[in-house]
Amino acid sequence: MHDVVTALTSVRARIGELERRYRREPGSVGLLAVSKTKPPAAVRAAIAAGQQAFGENHLQDAMTKVEALAGQGVSWHFIGAVQSNKTRPIATHFDWVHSIEREKIASRLSAQRPTDQRPLDVCIEVNVSGEESKSGVQPAEVETLARLICELPALRLRGLMAIPRPAADFESQRIPFRLLREILDDLNSKGLELDTLSMGMTGDLEAAIAEGATMVRVGTAIFGPR
Ligand SMILES: *Cc1c(COP(=O)(O)O)cnc(C)c1O
Repeated sequence: MHDVVTALTSVRARIGELERRYRREPGSVGLLAVSKTKPPAAVRAAIAAGQQAFGENHLQDAMTKVEALAGQGVSWHFIGAVQSNKTRPIATHFDWVHSIEREKIASRLSAQRPTDQRPLDVCIEVNVSGEESKSGVQPAEVETLARLICELPALRLRGLMAIPRPAADFESQRIPFRLLREILDDLNSKGLELDTLSMGMTGDLEAAIAEGATMVRVGTAIFGPR
């Protein structure tokens, strides 16, 4: 069986090494363990090894784990496309949504967030790869959506997320991540207070950390191939 504990230890060590290499503050790059398609036992192994934040992209698959692991102090992050008929369970059972692309979805999540829970942390997903990618908001439209989200009482806008088109070499991988960071810096210079750059996966972790990722979303390197 795939050894989640060993893999998690080596991913953490790698993140620490990359923080040093790119002069990032120690501990400034958070690790979201992407457990999509994996069974509750895999998540349990990661929890036992001290992992606390998990990413899921499919509601039904996630709910099996959310229910099996209730009370374990886990934070659940929704990282997939949000359909409008799924906003209520997402608003109820998740702590974060990284993939906000439309005002309508944001409004529904805010309206449906249970009042006894803290505001839902959210990121706007940005299309940083141009025409080849269909998901995410165009860079020129991010500010408008960001300002609308800031008006929603039960959401807290934390930052931006991107899934760039895969690129083979390191310098090409850096370009879309740099763009995402520049968009975040621009919003902050206009008075927003955003602290999260959700970027970098197993294949482009280093480029994302070099460009300022504050949360990397890692699946394969922790849980093995899907
Ligand atoms: C699956 C997924 C990941 C993790 O990808 P790996 O290549 O397995 O590390 C990260 N982010 C999102 C949005 C995903 O859907």
